[in-house]
Amino acid sequence: MATDYYGVLGLARGASDSDIKKAYRRLARDLHPDVNPDPGAKERFQEVSRAYQALTDPEKRRIVDLGGDPFDNGAGAGAGGFSGAGFGGLGDIMDAFFGGGATTRGPRSRVRAGGDALIRLDLDLDETVFGTTKDITVDTAVLCDACTGAGTAPGTHPTTCTTCSGRGEVQSVQRSFLGQVVASRPCPTCAGTGQVIPEPCPKCGGDGRVRARRTIPVKVPAGVEDGMRIRLTGHGEVGPGGGPAGDLYVEIAERPHDVFTRDGEDLHCRVTLPMTAAALGTTLTLETLDGREEVDIRPGTQSGSVLTLRAKGAPRLRATGRGNLMVHVEVETPTRLDAEQEKLLRELASLRGEDRPAAAGAEGHGGLFSRLFK
Ligand SMILES: [Zn+2]
Ligand SMILES: [Zn+2]
Repeated sequence: MATDYYGVLGLARGASDSDIKKAYRRLARDLHPDVNPDPGAKERFQEVSRAYQALTDPEKRRIVDLGGDPFDNGAGAGAGGFSGAGFGGLGDIMDAFFGGGATTRGPRSRVRAGGDALIRLDLDLDETVFGTTKDITVDTAVLCDACTGAGTAPGTHPTTCTTCSGRGEVQSVQRSFLGQVVASRPCPTCAGTGQVIPEPCPKCGGDGRVRARRTIPVKVPAGVEDGMRIRLTGHGEVGPGGGPAGDLYVEIAERPHDVFTRDGEDLHCRVTLPMTAAALGTTLTLETLDGREEVDIRPGTQSGSVLTLRAKGAPRLRATGRGNLMVHVEVETPTRLDAEQEKLLRELASLRGEDRPAAAGAEGHGGLFSRLFK
C-alpha cells in the first residue's frame, strides 16, 4: 500500500510547492533529533523527510500523484538513495535547502560586548522618598589588568588558526537524505575567531577578563519606587577578549514601613480615634517622614474619613512637587464600660433620642437604619 506522503506532512493532495516547503520546515524544526530527544520523534522525522523528498522531486511526485510509491523497487530508488541515518545538523539542513545560511561568514571577532548585570538594592521608605547614596558591592567580570584584555601571556601574540587557516569556519561534506550536503560550521579549534592564543595569559586563562568584587556608590534619586531600575552605564560585565562592558541595573526594593504604605507619590496611614475625640474634635500629633505634624480633627469626624496632608508624600520623580499624605481615620467604639460611663452614655443616648435607634428609621428620620430596613 502506498504511503500518503501529503498526509505525512499534514497537507491535502495537490498542495503547492511552497506549502510543502513550509510544512516540512515546521515539522523538521520540531522533530529533528538535534532538538527533539524523543525516540518517536526520530522516526517521525524520517517519515517527514521521506515525504518531503518524494514531493519535491518532480519525478517522484508524479509517481505519488499516480498512486504509487517512488521509494518502492526501482522507481526512483537509485536517485538520491534515501538514508534515514546520518543526517546533518538541523541548521545544515535548513541552510542547504532554504538558503538560511546565506549570510556572510568569516572569522568573528574574539572581542565581544559584555552582558548586563542586575543587582537588588533594599531601601527604607525614607530613603526612596528623599533619595540617598548607597555603596553596593558587585561581583562581575572586569578587564584583566595583566593582559589588558588581549588574553595573551606577556610578550606573546595570537597566531593564525591552523585548522581553518584563519577563516574561522570549516566545511564538511555530509551524506544526508538530501544527497551530499556541504556544511559550514564555526571552526572548533578557534571557536570561529580564526586565531588561537598559543600562550594564554596566566591570570585570565586567555579570556581577557577576570571576576572581581568591587564597591560602587549608587545615587538614588528622591521619589524612586519599588521595582524601578537605575542604570549604571558600563558597570556591567566586561565582554570576552576585553570587550566593552554591559550596563549594571540596580533594582530598588522598598522595605515595608511600619506606619506608612505607599501608592505612587501618595502615602497612606491609619489612625484610631476614641469615639469621644471623634465627636468632640481634637488635635493629633503625627510622626510623618518630615517630622512631627499637628493634625486637626474636626468635631464630628466619621470613621472612614480621610484627611489629606498636602505635599507630605513622596516627591514626583520626573516633575516638581510632592504627593500627599492621606490619614485614614478609624473611630473606635468603647468596649469595657464601667457603671458610671455606661450611665453617662445612656443619658447621652436618651438626650439624643438614640436610646431606641431602630425607631429612628420608622419615624422617617432618614438615618442609617432607615436605609437598612427600607
Ligand atoms: Zn589576562
Ligand atoms: Zn580555526
